[in-house]
Amino acid sequence: MTPRRVCFPLLGSYYVAEKVVGSLVGDEVILPPPITKRTLEIGAKHSPEAVCVPFKYMLGNFIEAVELGANVLVQMGGGCRLGCYGEVHRAILRRLGYDCEYIQVINDHGILSLIRFIKARYPQLSYLHICTVLYLAYEKARAIDIIEDYLRKNVGFVTRTDALERLHQRFLADLDRAATTKEVHQVKQDYEADFYRLDVQKPDKPLRVGFVGEFYVVMEPFSNFFIEKQLARYGVELHRPLTIAGTVQHYTFYNRHIRHLLRQASPYLTHAIGAHGTESVAQAVHFVQQGFDGLIHVKPFGCMPEINAMPALHRVSEDYHFPILYFSFDSLTSETGIKTRLEAFYDMLMMRKVHHA
Ligand code: SF4
Repeated sequence: MTPRRVCFPLLGSYYVAEKVVGSLVGDEVILPPPITKRTLEIGAKHSPEAVCVPFKYMLGNFIEAVELGANVLVQMGGGCRLGCYGEVHRAILRRLGYDCEYIQVINDHGILSLIRFIKARYPQLSYLHICTVLYLAYEKARAIDIIEDYLRKNVGFVTRTDALERLHQRFLADLDRAATTKEVHQVKQDYEADFYRLDVQKPDKPLRVGFVGEFYVVMEPFSNFFIEKQLARYGVELHRPLTIAGTVQHYTFYNRHIRHLLRQASPYLTHAIGAHGTESVAQAVHFVQQGFDGLIHVKPFGCMPEINAMPALHRVSEDYHFPILYFSFDSLTSETGIKTRLEAFYDMLMMRKVHHA
């Protein structure tokens, strides 16, 4: 029997957690090669032109993984057009002659839908085994969330960024090897201590910027032209509330979470606006209340939930004179344009800071 070689689309460092989920449904996990311009070119070439750019990246990932031998393609999502991607990806891949199994998991009720889905499809797996493996994946994602949150807030102020970069790579490799939640906690603790030991020279009042928007382009650094790294070079403390562990909780306790977000986003939103749009507005209000210097909002071109969020964001910006920089990405976005606008935004925030000091 042909071994089942599973692959997922890449999403930043979270491939470490995705590999654990993949081990449930296949014999081997094949990671797509790191995303490059080629990935996007292949994806864009075979995608409908107007579809949002995450679709194109994911299709590029799948094709590159199939070239490496993957034969089971898994995609998770829901809450917007993402829930229909599976059918279209499947049809395109079939038309291109790729003979693969395609698994689309609609996890609109978070972890519960995932558990139900896996049990229905693989009844030979016990609930205990499914839950243990998914918990391991969740804990790995949470460890990444915690460590990378520290990095975003401090990487702009460490004296040796090369040492920090190497430490981050070692952390991901060790986390990848961790086979139990106990080992995951140990790796997280050890590396937290190592990161805290690095020399960080942060001013008393650094520039603090929030980073919100659509799930994929916030979390996949290639797709946002490495905005986080760019801001670190300017010495900005970056806060990104969107995380994988947070997203799992969001969909698992959806109604409660949405009520909380709407309270936070009041009076700018009265209803949920789909995917992570409600969060973008709620978080913008939160950043204003916390005295942040500005906000960056990113979305793929044509992304309806984030387009819905933008009028509310404009009003927050006007009411509080709060600077917000908007980016919209598609497969033809120019890197130079992004860098120039980021630089101008940073200069403006610095001038405001000096002026208000
Ligand atoms: S949130 Fe927007 S960009 Fe992301 S998959 Fe949904 S529609 Fe596309």
